[in-house]
Amino acid sequence: MNGFVTLFRNIGKQITIYNGFSFVDHLLSSHEYIFIDLDDVQNLTRINYYKEILRKFSKIYCTVLFSNDLTIISPLIDDRWTFGGPLVNCSRSNRISNLSVDNNTLEKLFNQPVSSKFSKYWDNYFFNEYEKPIDQINYMASLSNNCYWGKCKYCNFNTPNKFIRNSKYILSNLKGYEHMNSTVHTCSSATSLAEITSILQELPRFRKENISVLSFVRADKFILDSIKSTENLVGFLIELGIESFSQTLSDQLNKGISKKVELNIIKETLLRNGRIDCTIMHPLSIMDKQTFIESKNYLKELLESIKSIDYIGKLKFCIVGPPQFSNKKEAMEFGKCSELEITKLYNSIFDRFESWDDEIVYINDVKKDSDSEKYNNEFFNILSETGLVRGNNYWYMKGKELCA
Ligand code: SF4
Repeated sequence: MNGFVTLFRNIGKQITIYNGFSFVDHLLSSHEYIFIDLDDVQNLTRINYYKEILRKFSKIYCTVLFSNDLTIISPLIDDRWTFGGPLVNCSRSNRISNLSVDNNTLEKLFNQPVSSKFSKYWDNYFFNEYEKPIDQINYMASLSNNCYWGKCKYCNFNTPNKFIRNSKYILSNLKGYEHMNSTVHTCSSATSLAEITSILQELPRFRKENISVLSFVRADKFILDSIKSTENLVGFLIELGIESFSQTLSDQLNKGISKKVELNIIKETLLRNGRIDCTIMHPLSIMDKQTFIESKNYLKELLESIKSIDYIGKLKFCIVGPPQFSNKKEAMEFGKCSELEITKLYNSIFDRFESWDDEIVYINDVKKDSDSEKYNNEFFNILSETGLVRGNNYWYMKGKELCA
């Protein structure tokens, strides 16, 4: 008998399903489904319980979204297990290299097309067998991986998409549940035209069925055009990596976007009642006088352009971290910040990881300036003065705090 493992987490009353929509239904003739709560394993509370359940299977198949999840379940793993992705290509993925896993899907291992089949096999488990209360289900849908741009200097998504799923098929088959909210994260590092088209087509139905969609987008013109051609974006949360408020700095980072297009995406999304999280890098001494002035002007222009829109609770700026560095020492030298500050910052980003050793990408040619720190601090102050409130590691508009 074969077993197919689905990893999940229960945070609060929210279940997040981590199989990335890679299925075995069309690959294996007979199999049973097993559900493993990562927290149960991480806290060492139910390891023997799961070992007992897994004992009867001669082969165990599992799809994994985050490489760190493999580390968590390592006490359960033996040579019966076969893993497939879609692994998120996070910088620490080499820690699992000894488990012979790469980020190909199970379908690839079976030399089959990537599954686009939506199976609700967890319905029975979560609604009938699972003993804890649930009020939300989050799907990590992994419509594609890597990024069609793949050229930003600080980013390790630097290879073309390894797989692209039939996003239309997956999204059109997703179903909300009457008694709870659902969210779907596309997990696409940069939403493609096909993906945003499918999302926008499905939005009216999603709204009816209480499903929200989250997706990372780049500020490309086709995204702006798609947004402008849609009347109502309620239920869509755009995660826009703007990184900095300055075109010059953005160009230095090789973002390949126009700040004008980006600003319009923010405005047009808010106008249509969509939500938008703009991720910005912790400035960390990469601002100089010119980019400081550009940033101030951009922020002024942005706030002016959205002043007549009710964007409270719909706009947030998240600080996701500095450019990545090869090690902690490098980051400290680059940013001239204290060890405590950088550790806190990194912990907030990589809190699921344990060590610094295997950061793989860093910037070595972004312009620095001796007064950079001063400009960064001043810019932080300007942000605070605009009505933006500083949370833990993000700013949001005064009023209702966004929950992403
Ligand atoms: S657009 Fe985003 S995912 Fe793509 S290379 Fe740049 S930072 Fe990475």
